[in-house]
Amino acid sequence: MERVDSIVIGAGVVGLALARELALRGREVVLLEAEDRVGTGISSRNSEVIHAGIYYPTDSLKARLCVAGNRALYAYCAARGVAHRRCGKLIVATEPGQVDALRALQAKAEANGVRDLRWLEPDEARALEPRLRCAAALLSPSTGIVDSHGLMRALRMDAEAAGAAVVLKSPVLGGLDTPEGLRVDVGGAEPMSLVAARVFNCAGLGAQAVARGFAGIRPGSVPPLHLSKGSYFSLAGAAPFSRLVYPVPDGSHLGVHLTLDLAGQARFGPDMEWVDRESYDVDIRRADGFYAEVRKYWPGLSDGALQPAYAGMRPKLHGPGEPAPDFVIQREEVHGVPGLVNLFGIESPGLTASLALAKEVAG
Ligand SMILES: Cc1cc2nc3c(=O)[nH]c(=O)nc-3n(C[C@H](O)[C@H](O)[C@H](O)COP(=O)(O)OP(=O)(O)OC[C@H]3O[C@@H](n4cnc5c(N)ncnc54)[C@H](O)[C@@H]3O)c2cc1C
Repeated sequence: MERVDSIVIGAGVVGLALARELALRGREVVLLEAEDRVGTGISSRNSEVIHAGIYYPTDSLKARLCVAGNRALYAYCAARGVAHRRCGKLIVATEPGQVDALRALQAKAEANGVRDLRWLEPDEARALEPRLRCAAALLSPSTGIVDSHGLMRALRMDAEAAGAAVVLKSPVLGGLDTPEGLRVDVGGAEPMSLVAARVFNCAGLGAQAVARGFAGIRPGSVPPLHLSKGSYFSLAGAAPFSRLVYPVPDGSHLGVHLTLDLAGQARFGPDMEWVDRESYDVDIRRADGFYAEVRKYWPGLSDGALQPAYAGMRPKLHGPGEPAPDFVIQREEVHGVPGLVNLFGIESPGLTASLALAKEVAG
């Protein structure tokens, strides 16, 4: 049976960043991906926003890795020619009753190390974005957008250039601790088994199923997976704003925001819908809720301007009404399988945090 130093399971942005990081540290790495291409999971259906680190509880992994990941991602994109734009974003209080919440968000961001936010009164905000309606706004200059597929292509190229092997059509079924190391069983058309000293489960929506496939995993250590679907609608015609626009968040949901792609096309989303299975169709009827939400900060949105775009699936670790947990990086002490590291609940800001998360896990 072939023996390698490290196996990474799942070639989304996190698995690719980790394979790159491990390979650059001189590890022999095999990256196993179930699909026939890299980056077809959560990483292919998101807002592509480089977050600043504003929203997350201070000292959480989400806060720390988002702030570090933001800087690392801008530097990486510039060095590797990955398309991105530091366009900035406005978080807007649409009613006077939200101004205190916006102030609290500013304080949290500063505690997280986001030091470049600027408070804007309504006329200052409208000087930047004339179509905006708000009672106050926060400008985040270090928020931006990135071509997520370009990013994943660059990560894969770096990983392979440093010696990592990316093996597609290789769904991991589970594994077993053996005297030679941790055995990983792969299904698909050509089933095989590999042995590794370290195995990193970065399977996104499949992370819980992969973890449960390892013999000896401690009962109760695998958190439940709750699926939350987020649908997007694109805007016909020219984008009304040159920056991203977000409402004041409602609980753990960042709200229906305006984001831009690198071609300048505007889209709104994602909304939040708890579902019991993966599905990626966009229900046209959800547009009604979008019009109401968007008009709170952009009253100029005209009837019929929104078209269904795409949907993404969040790998939540909490259900409706429960507090949002942090990213989970779970090692042997918790689950009992030597050499296995599980990553659970890598939802937003996982794209932004990917390079910092890879360093954290590899370290
Ligand atoms: C709607 C939405 C909007 C978001 N917006 C943002 C944003 O603007 N900014 C931001 O920073 N983050 C955002 N995120 C979060 C970000 O997209 C994710 O955190 C990130 O993409 C997760 O990457 P991943 O590699 O963990 O998962 P994935 O991309 O899903 O990769 C996991 C891979 O594992 C593979 N796999 C699964 N099971 C197996 C198996 N048994 N064997 C082998 N391979 C397997 C899958 O095929 C997949 O390729 C958003 C997420 C959603 C859902």
